[in-house]
Amino acid sequence: MSYEAPEPFAWNYCGTCGAPLVMTHDGQSVQPHCAPCRRFFYRNPVPAACCFVRRGKDELLFTQRAVEPCKGEWTLPGGFIELGETAEEAVLRELLEETNLRASTVELLGVSTKQSPNVGAVMVLGFVVINWSGEEAMRPDTDAIDLRFFPRHARPTVPFSVHRELLALYDARDGHHDKKWLK
Ligand SMILES: [Zn+2]
Repeated sequence: MSYEAPEPFAWNYCGTCGAPLVMTHDGQSVQPHCAPCRRFFYRNPVPAACCFVRRGKDELLFTQRAVEPCKGEWTLPGGFIELGETAEEAVLRELLEETNLRASTVELLGVSTKQSPNVGAVMVLGFVVINWSGEEAMRPDTDAIDLRFFPRHARPTVPFSVHRELLALYDARDGHHDKKWLK
């Protein structure tokens, strides 16, 4: 079965009261608005986080996706940031859920944003995971087929341009990195 991305979503009705939204000027631009709730419905990039888990000299951890989009391809572990958690908490939660690895410290590497048919646009924060542990108990979760460390020369081609951009940033920083990136 081939995967077809859904149409980008658009707000038509209020998610709270169900009233049809009316395009209304908010003082800066025209946006969908619910008059009964006095609320504008903005569309913004959805924040996500991904992990750079390094082993040895130049190996990075990749996960093989068990779900669409890009099922079967290798990507960086990560996921969407949930309400009520910080970006740092999100990346540590995703690391534990997806790999069973534990860590307490992450360092922001950079940010990459891309238009996405699934969510409108996604903004991915890349974090280097410092002092992780638990490799003997590492296992992929239900969304992944496999987990593997790849040396730099044998890295898989990742399907998401945000990950490619962050990998390029990682490599650029890698030559000058602080010793704390090393495990
Ligand atoms: Zn409403």
